[in-house]
Amino acid sequence: MRIAILSSEAVPFAKTGGLADVAGALPKALARQGVDARLILPLHQQIDRSLLSAEVIEDVPVDWRGRVSPIRVFQSEAAGAPAYLIDAGFYFDKPSIYGYANDHERFAFFSRAALALLRKLDWQPDVIHGNDWPCGFAMSELRARRRHDEFFRNTKTVFSIHNLAYQGTFDPKDLWWLGFGDSPEKDDFMLKGAASALKAGLISADALSTVSRRYAEEIQTPEQGAGLDWLLRARRDSLVGITNGVDYELWNPETDPYIAANFSAEDLSGKRECQRDLLRRFALPEDLDRPIIAIISRLVSQKGYDLIRQLSNAILQTGSFFIALGAGAKEYADFLQSWHDQAPRQVGIYKGYAGEPLAHQIEAGADMFLMPSQYEPCGLNQMYSMRYGTVPIVRATGGLDDTVENFNAQYGTGTGFKFREYHAGALLDKIREALYFYSKPEIWQQIQLNGMAQDNSWDAAGKKYVGLYEQLVGEQSKINAVVS
Ligand code: ADP
Repeated sequence: MRIAILSSEAVPFAKTGGLADVAGALPKALARQGVDARLILPLHQQIDRSLLSAEVIEDVPVDWRGRVSPIRVFQSEAAGAPAYLIDAGFYFDKPSIYGYANDHERFAFFSRAALALLRKLDWQPDVIHGNDWPCGFAMSELRARRRHDEFFRNTKTVFSIHNLAYQGTFDPKDLWWLGFGDSPEKDDFMLKGAASALKAGLISADALSTVSRRYAEEIQTPEQGAGLDWLLRARRDSLVGITNGVDYELWNPETDPYIAANFSAEDLSGKRECQRDLLRRFALPEDLDRPIIAIISRLVSQKGYDLIRQLSNAILQTGSFFIALGAGAKEYADFLQSWHDQAPRQVGIYKGYAGEPLAHQIEAGADMFLMPSQYEPCGLNQMYSMRYGTVPIVRATGGLDDTVENFNAQYGTGTGFKFREYHAGALLDKIREALYFYSKPEIWQQIQLNGMAQDNSWDAAGKKYVGLYEQLVGEQSKINAVVS
């Protein structure tokens, strides 16, 4: 089976969040199942050029704005499966991956170039798997093309929702020159007077997936449907929830090259060294008897920073250290700065995108990890935390609810602490409960070991994606059989 995976970001090339982790790990996981999976992404400015191989594909013709522009495509094996990187400096040689007024144009171009590349390679995929709104264009375009284009006639599409809140909206007047001005494509994009690349993907893909079972249910409700719940309800027979896996080649305390000392469930002693190292990195006193609570996330309201802000004094009063790593909204960055200024020997912060090493060092050195999200499609950090013996404190939403089991002191079961109401008091109660059990080392170690024993590897998720692709390809062969 041939699967083309399109993504705007992927590890180890370019990353802002969990989508990159998933898009980097999925092709590898599929390859392990015997699938010929290839990744296509833009050649962003921040991509380390030493990851690219010498062989370049020249003159890929992209039909764009009324003329054919030849582009170059680089290749790499750094993700553990073949990757193609679309070189279009005009659109992608920029300091950030997103955040420009013409983002819709940039990713519409990416989608068109990806399809042009497949034809140039003469590599007919069984399935094109697009991710989030930047790939909504490709979903729509493919459905239109296969009506008349023999090359793509048997290609099916899967569209994965990693976050429904990012909808890729733009002025519908632009649909014409982007090449989506004809009905029904034009109508597929229309959402409350604007054009939305996400909506076009949701309407036109053959199958939809999202990154946890719980989120698949939640997005069908008006509360969590971000204005698209009606469409997801209408397409619920084509929607599956497949919980993301963890790439244990990259996130494994036994082998992690970024952390001060390796450790395992059999021997946790290295974790103490990681704690010392973490406190040093954030210029905090090396008091190893005080718990370290950490958070790593984009600084957006989704991640529950409003609750943390409300609890800033209460958290200080517990005597814990607090370490935060995050990039995003100024409002939350300012809060972190003032919290640090208020208690520089208790609160350590890093504002900005730090890359992989610091994120691993925090996972390894922290005792507790906060994810009080308003909503969370899957969430990866709670799964990384569990593997590193760092106990997650999460809100019971989306993938957090599916992957973290609340600790039950009577039976010694559970992997973390989970609260339901999006309310500062509910979070504080769970922090206090966690701190109480932290003060009982034997019980605490049991919670750590319960988490470390979880298997969230990509194998299970990879098999589910293969099942989904097979179902689509099977339907196609049934249709062909009827036609012939
Ligand atoms: P989301 O996809 O909503 O951002 P996830 O929990 O699924 O949230 O994934 C976040 C990923 O991004 C994790 O790998 C996390 O370590 C990483 N990350 C988030 N913010 C930063 C940052 N400022 N610096 C380094 N890594 C970060």
